[in-house]
Amino acid sequence: MTDQPTTDVAATGTDWVAVAAELDAADPLAAFVDRFEPAEGVTAYFDGNSLGRPVRGTAQELARFVEQGWGTRLIRSWDEAWMRWPEETGDLVATAALGAAPGQTVVADSTTVLLYKMLRALADAQVRADPARTQIVLDTDNFPTDRYVAEGVAAERGMELVWIEADPASGVTEEQVAEVVSERTAVVLISHVAYRSGYLADAAAITQRVHAAGALVLWDLCHSAGSVPVHLDAWDVDAAVGCTYKYLNGGPGSPAFAYLAQRHHTTVRQPIQGWMGRRDPFLMGPGYEPAPGIRSLVSGTPPVVAMVPLRLSVALLAEAGIDAVRTKSLALTDLAWDIVASWPAELGVTIASPRAHEQRGGHLTIRRHDFAEVNARLWEQGVIPDFRAPDGLRLGLAPLSTSFAEVVSGLQAVRDLIS
Ligand SMILES: *Cc1c(COP(=O)(O)O)cnc(C)c1O
Repeated sequence: MTDQPTTDVAATGTDWVAVAAELDAADPLAAFVDRFEPAEGVTAYFDGNSLGRPVRGTAQELARFVEQGWGTRLIRSWDEAWMRWPEETGDLVATAALGAAPGQTVVADSTTVLLYKMLRALADAQVRADPARTQIVLDTDNFPTDRYVAEGVAAERGMELVWIEADPASGVTEEQVAEVVSERTAVVLISHVAYRSGYLADAAAITQRVHAAGALVLWDLCHSAGSVPVHLDAWDVDAAVGCTYKYLNGGPGSPAFAYLAQRHHTTVRQPIQGWMGRRDPFLMGPGYEPAPGIRSLVSGTPPVVAMVPLRLSVALLAEAGIDAVRTKSLALTDLAWDIVASWPAELGVTIASPRAHEQRGGHLTIRRHDFAEVNARLWEQGVIPDFRAPDGLRLGLAPLSTSFAEVVSGLQAVRDLIS
């Protein structure tokens, strides 16, 4: 930290700098902050939920990749390693972040493309088994790409969308899901952590509700993978997708992951039948025949270069442990909460995220009418949250790369600008 925030004991009664110093001193993950590339001129980075920071050594790892795997081994690397990277990297993510046994996860396309493949695959399997299951359930506050993909799949397959009206300041509840699922439901698509409010849905209970209606669930884990513990196998989830450039620090445009539970491997078929997901791709044979197991989720040539930073960052997450990450995440968002809650009411800042730990993901959203302009000025100063219309400032506090002192100094900068 280069800038020390001004201590505001008089106004709030609490010396937040001292509180943060104690929390940092007691933080078992404190040393991980220095395992990320330093960012010159940035004093507080609150956007780990949008673009995670690069792990230290990422540049060297990419250089080594260019010189060795690509530059020297050349095309031999496909056989020696790269062909297996979608499944192998998928297993690394599954083990570190998803609570999934190996053989059920691949890293492949973008989140959007994988969402399409998985939603189409699950919907088709359901309609095949029971033509009356023509509904896809999702919520009005789901991430735009999820809504658009579902609209496309529904139009393509003559299916109907059933919308849950989610509260933008919280998210989809078990009761809301129970109300809409029926013998007509094919698939339910929900985000585990709501991108706007940070609301953490009860994935285990909702999955049970969906199954009780004979439907399948597809979870979007973009805002939970790497931040909130996920137990896909234990929760009996059918399928999930998520991106790797947020809390998984894979870098801009790093490929997404898709999980499909073992029990569906022979019945669920994704729609983009490409040669890389075919049995024996180099036989170049006639007709598509899916490769056995999770490999059939792959369509074309895997984005190998883009997996290099991800493989490094997932190893870092595995070393820290997702439960320790979650503990720190809650402590970071608690601190941010307490600081904002201590501000005088006339500043007009409200918190639009759940207070209860069991309902809170990895970020907090605070609201004020002029946060669009405030955000722009913060960015100029090297304090970097992000803005979500109409008036939300999102504080994405990535536990491995964020210190408690950073939370205090960044929020002090917000307060200075609005006072
Ligand atoms: C970030 C995010 C996405 C992003 O999709 P891309 O295809 O990677 O652009 C999708 N869904 C949710 C919930 C997200 O938070």
